[in-house]
Amino acid sequence: MKQIDIPAQKEILWHRLRTDLKSLVPRFDNDDLLLCPTCCRPLGFDEFSVEHIVPKQALRCDPANVRQAIPQNERSGLTLLCQKPLVIKGKRVPGHGCNSWKGKHFDPSLRELLGADFQKARINTRHQVSLYSAGYLALFRQFGYQISLSPAGLLSRRQFFFPNTFLPDVPLNCQMILAGERRSEFNEDEKAYWCEPFNIKIDDQTALVVLRNMGFRVPISRDPTQPLARILPYLPSKFKFRPDLTTVFE
Ligand SMILES: [Zn+2]
Repeated sequence: MKQIDIPAQKEILWHRLRTDLKSLVPRFDNDDLLLCPTCCRPLGFDEFSVEHIVPKQALRCDPANVRQAIPQNERSGLTLLCQKPLVIKGKRVPGHGCNSWKGKHFDPSLRELLGADFQKARINTRHQVSLYSAGYLALFRQFGYQISLSPAGLLSRRQFFFPNTFLPDVPLNCQMILAGERRSEFNEDEKAYWCEPFNIKIDDQTALVVLRNMGFRVPISRDPTQPLARILPYLPSKFKFRPDLTTVFE
């Protein structure tokens, strides 16, 4: 299969996310902006870049026959993150926004996890928060802004900026990883293991996210597979959505 290049992927993601955001927050109809799924700042097209949720540095460690058989973009899962420098408590954070933040704080840990032998590996909280944050981005990639703009989404957006410790509001069952043995070779029967990186099941107040040989949970506020009424003014509360546009910092 021919790989769609990154500039084209960015256009596709931008338009898909714009449609989704406008349907949930109609005032975005009138401007050409998107909310970054982590810092939640409203920004223009040039201030976003394509993010490989499973980082490229981890994918480069995949077995050679896997790299040959399945394009990198398919193994990573793509979304958009901002590249506009972050200013936290009045201080400019070096680098390019949330994209660099993930690259610095989470991608090395994700690479270590994906290559880990769990019989021997020492897993620290940074590893766990890295996986949790990748899971949150996977939920956003699959279900859009209804994830980010919910109360549980705000919690995950805040967690993204605390890479070394879990926030007290993160449920305990979202602070653990279930891991099996990782595959070290490619064969056609197990292609799914390497292809779509995230398998998501909704289970009451959490989403169970499976990434290759690891399973973990990310909190959700409502079942995102249930339809949302995006236009009707009167309806049962489970179909209603009140977007929470709170940013983690000003
Ligand atoms: Zn951002």
